[in-house]
Amino acid sequence: MLTDDKNGRNAHFAKAVQRLKDERRYRVFIDLERDADRFPTALWRPEGGQKPRDVTIWCSNDYLGMGCHPDVRGAATASANQHGAGAGGTRNISGTHHRIIELEAELADLHGKEAGLVFTSGWISNLAGISTIASLMPNCLILSDALNHNSMIEGVRRAGCEKQVWRHNDVEHLEALLKAADPARAKLIVFESLYSMDGDIAPIEKIVELAERYNAMTYIDEVHAVGMYGPRGGGISERDGLAHRIDVIEGTLAKGFGSLGGYIAGDSIVVDAVRSYAPQFIFSTTLPPMVVSGACAAVRHLKASGVEREGHQYMASVTKHALQAAGIPVKDNPSHIVPVMVNDAERCKAASDLLLRRHDIYIQPINFPTVAIGTERLRITPTPRHTEAHVSVLVEALVDVWKTLDLPFTSARILPLRRKAPAADCVYPEMRKAAE
Ligand SMILES: *Cc1c(COP(=O)(O)O)cnc(C)c1O
Repeated sequence: MLTDDKNGRNAHFAKAVQRLKDERRYRVFIDLERDADRFPTALWRPEGGQKPRDVTIWCSNDYLGMGCHPDVRGAATASANQHGAGAGGTRNISGTHHRIIELEAELADLHGKEAGLVFTSGWISNLAGISTIASLMPNCLILSDALNHNSMIEGVRRAGCEKQVWRHNDVEHLEALLKAADPARAKLIVFESLYSMDGDIAPIEKIVELAERYNAMTYIDEVHAVGMYGPRGGGISERDGLAHRIDVIEGTLAKGFGSLGGYIAGDSIVVDAVRSYAPQFIFSTTLPPMVVSGACAAVRHLKASGVEREGHQYMASVTKHALQAAGIPVKDNPSHIVPVMVNDAERCKAASDLLLRRHDIYIQPINFPTVAIGTERLRITPTPRHTEAHVSVLVEALVDVWKTLDLPFTSARILPLRRKAPAADCVYPEMRKAAE
């Protein structure tokens, strides 16, 4: 099978890949072409040279469709034409450009903080932010939520100091750990606002109260909330009026803001220290101006416009409601995430395949290690660009898949819609027409 064995070295890799296949964890990515004018419709190129065809994306983290927004595309193309394709280097050498300074000012303002610092991704911002902040506080104790994202876990690991993991969203457990620790010791509490696999929201106010009582620093990941919650898109901490009580807010420019990059926002001196010490920042080339301009346009737009947020929450609510009414097992939560539980890796993959091949619907299966074994799911993310017509097609497709694979239905529940339709009946009326 192996064409060139390279003295047996490649056998190690073949074995590792085979292990994943045996465990049904081997991941397959489909060949998609996003079309900015038609999102959430995209072109799928099936394997084996079959004719490409349109599919509807139901699992994008471009939650608001901002990556396709005319203002964002306009800003990115204008910036590429004005500044060229790249940043020209790391910021320490030659890559601090005016667009990134503007963006950092927007982000600091978004969260009501003194300063912001942009990284090449949200993943890197967590790795750099958590590890640098914790390592600069002597003998720091990190208290980390059990379901924190991989990038936060890596940040905690790299900090090299003692860590304690508190049970997910369990503030009593967190308090017990804080109480047991030496009061004089520096402490950093790291957690997310909105956990993206179950769509549950952290008890932020209680965590902040504990942090204040036990003199701990707080670091929150608002990746799945920025742009989408709060009157200006500042996340759950803005929505709940708590941003000023949190020390460091981390976010991404790649999800709600539809672009690429990550950031932290906090006190100037904290941000300056991370800027000065984090190798992930110092030794890596800055984001290109065109990416930064696109992201900045999205941040600015969403500070002033609530239509996307309204449309987003409305479509999430309509989707949950319609699936529950059809007896599809949706895990309920207070957010825009719609987890449909399959609870079996193989059948989750089979459901995803059937949706794609029979119904032209793309929903990537979510398996271990992203979620625990036995909790495999289809993670559906409605956007303001989906329509009720899309939802009807989705429900029929899922019912067909559930019957075909003999998956268990729940007893259908007719729930009251939690939200009224937004005033404008769709964010992008031309999009709605095209879908109908
Ligand atoms: C996606 C994600 C990140 C990483 O952000 P990127 O910009 O995609 O690198 C960080 N935290 C959480 C919770 C995420 O889901």
